[in-house]
Amino acid sequence: MTAPLLGQMMDVPLTVSSLIAHAARHHGGTQIVSRRIEGDVHRYTYRDCEKRSKQLAQALIALGVAPGERIGTLAWNGYRHLEAYFGVPGFGAVCHTINPRLFPEQIAYIINHAQDQYVLFDITFAPLVDKLAPQCPDVRGWIALTDEAHLPDMRTPVLSYETLIEAEDGEYEWPLLDERSASNLCYTSGTTGNPKGALYAHRSSVLHAYGASLPDAMGLSSRDAILPVVPMFHVNAWGVPYAAPLNGAKLVLPGKDLDGKSLYELMEAEGVTCSAGVPTVWLGLLAYMREADVRFTTFKRTVIGGSACPPAMLRAFEDEYGVQVIHAWGMTEMSPLGTLATLNWEQSQRPLEAQRALLEKQGRVVFGVDMKIVGSEGEELPWDGVAFGDLHVRGPWVIDRYFRQENGSPLVDGWFPTGDVATIDPDGFMQITDRSKDVIKSGGEWISSIDLENIAVAHPAVAEAACIACAHPRWTERPLIVAVLKPGATLTREALLAFYEGKVAKWWLPDDVVFVKELPHTATGKLQKLKLRERFRDHVLPTALAIENCPLGEPGTDR
Ligand code: AMP
Repeated sequence: MTAPLLGQMMDVPLTVSSLIAHAARHHGGTQIVSRRIEGDVHRYTYRDCEKRSKQLAQALIALGVAPGERIGTLAWNGYRHLEAYFGVPGFGAVCHTINPRLFPEQIAYIINHAQDQYVLFDITFAPLVDKLAPQCPDVRGWIALTDEAHLPDMRTPVLSYETLIEAEDGEYEWPLLDERSASNLCYTSGTTGNPKGALYAHRSSVLHAYGASLPDAMGLSSRDAILPVVPMFHVNAWGVPYAAPLNGAKLVLPGKDLDGKSLYELMEAEGVTCSAGVPTVWLGLLAYMREADVRFTTFKRTVIGGSACPPAMLRAFEDEYGVQVIHAWGMTEMSPLGTLATLNWEQSQRPLEAQRALLEKQGRVVFGVDMKIVGSEGEELPWDGVAFGDLHVRGPWVIDRYFRQENGSPLVDGWFPTGDVATIDPDGFMQITDRSKDVIKSGGEWISSIDLENIAVAHPAVAEAACIACAHPRWTERPLIVAVLKPGATLTREALLAFYEGKVAKWWLPDDVVFVKELPHTATGKLQKLKLRERFRDHVLPTALAIENCPLGEPGTDR
């Protein structure tokens, strides 16, 4: 065989440090604005961000962190967290963003499984860190993302981020890393069992940032000011912290206050043109705008995903406020971008109702992702918008295997099974119809149905229980317990709900209990959740009767 004729172009690795290096060099004066935990608004540029990211890299190297080691973060969307996105992978270590809304035990599991060497944390999480530190003996140090003056009073010995990086000069050359080396780590609890880690590579992160920027995706440019409402601990804020510097877009980071008023005021003050977030946050923003009778002056479009975007929300944004909604679907295992609903030229000529029907779906893939739906025998199903099956995906930013789970690949014939059930129509638009994975997604956060079932059956009066997702106007889904009592036993709904108190986080408490005579099972004795979900499709949760009874709080919670 003759050797292939190789192309004669530069072999430049795709690294995440090249994104900030590009922004600093070519969009050096463009602003990054952050609402800080300390209460004020912080403002600096891509040039400043690169310098401080380099100082962070130097500081971590001085602490003895080696390439490949993991550095955890427990932080809101802010400039110091952003510096970790570049400073940590920039020298070859791995930036591991952790969801602070999980229970402390789950977080400790994740930190220990990831073998995090240091954890950077916002001072709001000081009490959480005090709980975690004794459970994470292998963490070499906890670094508070603040200066010496704001260090919180804690049991755990902590370092000040500002003090650490001030000791460095920022005179550092980003190394040319192997683009296949790991850059970021995100855990998902959207599957059964313990949370699992998706380990992204520099190459996959840069390709994803390109893909996310495309006009049929987020459509980012240097004329945009983008405010990611989606937290930087949720699949890297859907890649926005990497796509923004790639385009030289202004970046506005909202900190911890995600209520409608705080968001609206920041968007107006900073001339925000686009955003991205889960439906629950947008509900809060829309409610505030109606109540305060205010309008957007610069906001043009937003990506809504993480859970299905209700058609009424799409209409409200487009018809009442002239904001384009781009409904999107993806997952942690996909970095996360999979599909987005934008119309091509021909589709945009169709009658308005036909256009809307397409835009309400989860959309079509961007280049970089391929998808198919398969039946129970693994056979590919037709794209007729009617046949539904398991949704499988593949591509250069889709997971190949989970972190530190060497035995067993999740792939089926080279495709990743998403755990979602979908149709694909002749236009190539995918629509999620159900979920085969056994979890509930409330306000963008996962709740384990199995954990809630285990608690129910631990009650002496309960013979069997199923926990299913039930539609909720505010949180999209909330847990409903369907239980069978032991013969002769009596139990009220209230008593079973009270049984959960103190056993799970408050936002995991089921919203309702229904008692039935028996639960549907398959021939092999497995619970038929799909049947149950169908049966309770129209069940109205008592918490859903009036949206005003669902106070604003942490997304995914009713605290
Ligand atoms: P995560 O890994 O936390 O990002 O969750 C990914 C999962 O969230 C997907 O597999 C879906 O089950 C669900 N999801 C994400 N986006 C959407 C959407 N637009 N519509 C319906 N479900 C969605």
